[in-house]
Amino acid sequence: MDEIINFDKLIDKYLYRDIRQRTPGKYYPSEIGQCLRKAWFNIKMPKPVEPEVTKIFEAGNLFHAFIVEVLKSEKNPEIELVADEMPLKYKIDEFEISGRIDDIIQLKYNGEKILIEVKSTKSLDFLKEPSEAYIMQIQFYMHVTGIKKGAILYVEKNTLKSKAFFMDYDPKIAEMTINRFRELHKSVTGNVMPEPEAKLIYKKRWMCNFCPYKKECDGIEQGQE
Ligand code: SF4
Repeated sequence: MDEIINFDKLIDKYLYRDIRQRTPGKYYPSEIGQCLRKAWFNIKMPKPVEPEVTKIFEAGNLFHAFIVEVLKSEKNPEIELVADEMPLKYKIDEFEISGRIDDIIQLKYNGEKILIEVKSTKSLDFLKEPSEAYIMQIQFYMHVTGIKKGAILYVEKNTLKSKAFFMDYDPKIAEMTINRFRELHKSVTGNVMPEPEAKLIYKKRWMCNFCPYKKECDGIEQGQE
């Protein structure tokens, strides 16, 4: 039978977004744990997001919407969902960081608040620790809100099983994260491309495989040889 409607095309059209032009001086917590050179490219030379990547983001949003329903459900009276998708702005020196906190919950038995970042993943099997980029993001949010406890909650896509990594606010990680923003801002305003961080640090090398600026980045390194 002929295909009456191509649903893939409908989804692609629905999700299509124009290239997001960036303003120097405005940054996002979600980008600061990436390779700094990639973050720099992203601001200086924005590219359209690949449809596959847009779909992954959208799937992440859907999982988060599900977790919000779970957290605010009356079936879970031991916690209260205090906020979800909470916008946040923070000024450092002469630049600004804006983001959205996934969720803040409050434990009913002691009133303690916990900040939660939700991440969907293909498999929890080999997940031993949360990604460093997510740690930086949540520590930054804890720093700004003053909430001293956080959790990175991974949800497995096919099974809805979850794994949460709880952590306390760590001023050293927050400070290191803020210094990375300073470094990024300095390189953006000074037009100085950062070092290829992901290539130089062994455990970050995997990032290059998913980097839309790999060709440009490799070209620069080859040009220097
Ligand atoms: S290719 Fe690797 S080192 Fe270069 S910008 Fe991308 S992530 Fe960074």
